Amino acid sequence: MLKIGIVKWRGKCSKHPGFDPYSDGRGAIRGGCTRCESLLEIYELHTKMLSLMRQFNPPDPKKTAAKKHDDSHLQESLFDELENE
Ligand SMILES: [Zn+2]
Repeated sequence: MLKIGIVKWRGKCSKHPGFDPYSDGRGAIRGGCTRCESLLEIYELHTKMLSLMRQFNPPDPKKTAAKKHDDSHLQESLFDELENE
């Protein structure tokens, strides 16, 4: 069994602090900067990891609809924690 906790990670290039792999993409990397390249790679692999997780364990529409009621306060508290950090 594989367990992965919530990962919060931040990284930015000291030369190009404005570079955002999500909104800017590969085309915005200036002068083949290796730090920006790394950020893009991390972003791409993270996106791939999330999609692999979804494929492996797709959300069951019936289950989530039924569970929504019970877990509603749990989900809210999870979101509060993330926003406050
Ligand atoms: Zn850079």
